[in-house]
Amino acid sequence: MSGRREHRGRHEPLVITIRRPRARVALARSDGELIMAALADAASYREWRARQWCESCDAEPEGTCEDHLQDGALTGAYRALAARLADVLPEPGGGAP
Ligand SMILES: [Zn+2]
Repeated sequence: MSGRREHRGRHEPLVITIRRPRARVALARSDGELIMAALADAASYREWRARQWCESCDAEPEGTCEDHLQDGALTGAYRALAARLADVLPEPGGGAP
């Protein structure tokens, strides 16, 4: 990917500055499938983490610590992004590459 990335922290948003405004990236069908698989894996991992318990969770009145709340939020965010991308990425296994 061309562009400068800034990653400020574990849960900070990733900001991408496009250096070449008209730059295009060609994705093969397999790239789209890989992106969707990566988002599914990430969502499953975060979902699993969100269900874990830790000593910080025990100390919270609501029963879930900030880290585990964040895991739940990221699970939803990954699934929402996958749903949005499903509208523009090719169907897995369908049509010509
Ligand atoms: Zn916790």
